[in-house]
Amino acid sequence: MIIHKRVATLTRDLDRYRRQGKIIGFVPTMGALHEGHLSLAERSRHDCDITAVSIFVNPKQFNDPEDLIKYPRPLEADLKMLLEQKVDIVFVPEVEDVYPPGLNTKIDFDPGPASRVMEGAFRPGHFDGMAEVVHRLLDIVRPDKLYMGQKDFQQLAIIRQMISDLHMPIILEMCPTLREPHGLAMSSRNTRLSENARKEASIIYTTLTEAQRRFEEEEPVAAIKRDAMETLSKAGFEPEYFEIVDGLTFQNVDSYADSQYVVALCAIRVEGIRLIDNDIWIRKE
Ligand code: AMP
Repeated sequence: MIIHKRVATLTRDLDRYRRQGKIIGFVPTMGALHEGHLSLAERSRHDCDITAVSIFVNPKQFNDPEDLIKYPRPLEADLKMLLEQKVDIVFVPEVEDVYPPGLNTKIDFDPGPASRVMEGAFRPGHFDGMAEVVHRLLDIVRPDKLYMGQKDFQQLAIIRQMISDLHMPIILEMCPTLREPHGLAMSSRNTRLSENARKEASIIYTTLTEAQRRFEEEEPVAAIKRDAMETLSKAGFEPEYFEIVDGLTFQNVDSYADSQYVVALCAIRVEGIRLIDNDIWIRKE
């Protein structure tokens, strides 16, 4: 495993692999790695000749400065996990490498409906910063395949739109959400929860599952969403939203009957930490 801190040495290394005709897979992360991140790297290793993982806590996508300061950065442990996962290349840039003074890294594209609702509404500026860094990293790494998690469903939809609108020759693969034994979606932020909250947070997934059961029984969607919000609040998890939307248009879904692609998404706050989760309920190809 080679660790690159500078863009120049990374691109030299990758260019050599490209000349050899190797397929390059890329997994961008913000570190504090867990099994979820590793599952993306594993998938890339399965599909591609070379797997590159980046670790970069992108200051531009934090709308809450406190969240940026408190974001965990256990680099040594991360590198150990990536070594065990047999990743080929790790890119650990500094802010100045990603955003060199004088280089305009802003991108001009309409991130579409996914950027305007839920996470887009509750975290102003977050998706602009996220798309900017992913675009910059893709420009540096130029992978054949990009691996991202369903866990960040709106993020993935925006990157899909960006790749398509900017004609980037990259295949985007969506990887399933890995969960802790009680159902809580794995997240770097989970380490900041108390032991008790981490256990109790399984209610997020059980609420999603119960809502799915009622949705499939064609109960009124408004009542399902209202009850889900109530269940979460009563358990001490302050919900920001619980929505049931079309996975492509991000419009609200009103009934089970004519739905082709249905995703339920929610965000909650507990102990000052914000957690998101989602579940795909219907996906007809
Ligand atoms: P992050 O480090 O939070 O920016 O996440 C890096 C990548 O890992 C993103 O594509 C996430 O969607 C993905 N990811 C985060 N949590 C999980 C999880 N529990 N299961 C699968 N993928 C995940």
